[in-house]
Amino acid sequence: MASPARRTRETDDATVNAMGGDRNVFASRACDACRALGSFMVLVVLAIVGLTYYATVVVVYGPLAAEGGEDAGVATGALCAYHVFAFMLLWSYFACVLTAPGDVPRGWTPAPEDPEEAASEAKKSNSEKRRRFCKKCAAWKPTRTHHCSVCKRCVLKMDHHCVWVANCVGAYNYKFFLQFLAYTFLATVLDAILLLSNFIDFFKDVDPAEGTELAVVFVTFIVNVAFSASLLGFLVMHGNLILSNMTTIEMYEKKKTLPWKYDLGRFRNFKEVFGENVFMWFLPVHSSSHLEKMRVNTGISDGECLEGAAYARACESAQREATIGNRKGRA
Ligand SMILES: [Zn+2]
Ligand SMILES: [Zn+2]
Repeated sequence: MASPARRTRETDDATVNAMGGDRNVFASRACDACRALGSFMVLVVLAIVGLTYYATVVVVYGPLAAEGGEDAGVATGALCAYHVFAFMLLWSYFACVLTAPGDVPRGWTPAPEDPEEAASEAKKSNSEKRRRFCKKCAAWKPTRTHHCSVCKRCVLKMDHHCVWVANCVGAYNYKFFLQFLAYTFLATVLDAILLLSNFIDFFKDVDPAEGTELAVVFVTFIVNVAFSASLLGFLVMHGNLILSNMTTIEMYEKKKTLPWKYDLGRFRNFKEVFGENVFMWFLPVHSSSHLEKMRVNTGISDGECLEGAAYARACESAQREATIGNRKGRA
């Protein structure tokens, strides 16, 4: 029987690994539930943004700016700042939802293995097989690629499957995901500050005619505070992961293997995700030069795309390697 450590290495399934166990009925049902949530979570996000927009713009600051009193200037400034954050939040959100996280190119096959290099790599405690094959997709996969049980496909430099964006977070939308977190955090903090005085008013004697609107503001304030607190935790966690060039899956799988082989230094690690162009750090788009570098970072450039019979032969050899590996494992 395989040892627990071997089982973890062999089970190349992001969801299962994140849970720290083998594939089982619970994991399978959790994946089904995530899939069923799908676009429903997109509606939940839009409903929260809509509620916040209604409370901030329609109920409180819009009328204040329209009245033209002494607070009109402050209200107009608050509305401008809020609209900028809300726009960036939605832009980065839909960029993350709609961008393919990183499909392995059709027919991709790793370069042939150098026996000497493979032997020296095998001696290292934190080595990973350079030629990796996904049995579920029946296809080769580059380094740092993982199979997502929810999406039922392999994802390049997969970070995790996120129900909030109804998508996997991988090489090509990780930046957008982080921007979504950051802009949502800024928007929720700003909104909590803007609604604080109205929140306090809720506890005073108020005109019953304003009761419903104040209740909406009250709920919005609570939602914003709750989201900003939880997002701060996520931002700190992902900030540490970016600076050490590690994905969430790798954090669970390999956090004890030091030194981390993908660590290029904090600033270069940051630029691997956000690109070289400072302007692009704030926008949910990739420059063409950054996309080109991703081919190297995701390991795609470390192989070639084969077609038809050539690819079928390469896959057959992978199945043979896997069978031999399993026999050795049992021996
Ligand atoms: Zn796969
Ligand atoms: Zn997924």
